[in-house]
Amino acid sequence: MNIILFGPPGAGKGTQANLIQAEFNIPHLSTGNIFRAAIKNETPLGVKVKSILDAGELVSDETVVDLVAEELKDSKYDNGCIFDGFPRTVVQADAFDSILTAKGSKVDAFVVLTVPEDELVRRILSRGEGRSDDTEEMIKNRLEVYTNETEPVQSYYTKQGLVQEIDGIGSIEEIFERIKVALK
Ligand code: ADP
Repeated sequence: MNIILFGPPGAGKGTQANLIQAEFNIPHLSTGNIFRAAIKNETPLGVKVKSILDAGELVSDETVVDLVAEELKDSKYDNGCIFDGFPRTVVQADAFDSILTAKGSKVDAFVVLTVPEDELVRRILSRGEGRSDDTEEMIKNRLEVYTNETEPVQSYYTKQGLVQEIDGIGSIEEIFERIKVALK
């Protein structure tokens, strides 16, 4: 089962992806985590994307799509995956469709976590992960990028009849229960 976990920064995608991974035994692929690890390890990819992440901008579609296509060659994804942070533009969604089709696979569910903007900012500032893009100014920029470039991805999957909206307000367990009901 291929699940896209969607929603703005601070919506709780990473937290819920970890719970889904444990419950359904499906690996979790977070493009943001891959980029942060690359930056930490100072790999060529990390050097290339560091200033982009720091600015809260998007890494180029080509870089992201190549990365995901390469990662999905790993047989651990053969029974599906939880995608978190990808696809983040309509161009990426289109390319993703082609990648999955070539593998004889498809997107099975698109789960959107909805959280009001003031709550998103509050959560990101209070989670204190020390991320260089977690300053108030950069959060504003990431939310703007989300509205302009990422939100249209939801309409893309609405046309395919795959979108399930989940109320992202509540305890971690409550939200996870809602996701489980949606995925059944
Ligand atoms: P958040 O959801 O809090 O913004 P992520 O970990 O998903 O955090 O992403 C962090 C940053 O990594 C983004 O602001 C962006 O710079 C980069 N990034 C992650 N995934 C993508 C993607 N699919 N396309 C372009 N940039 C990406």
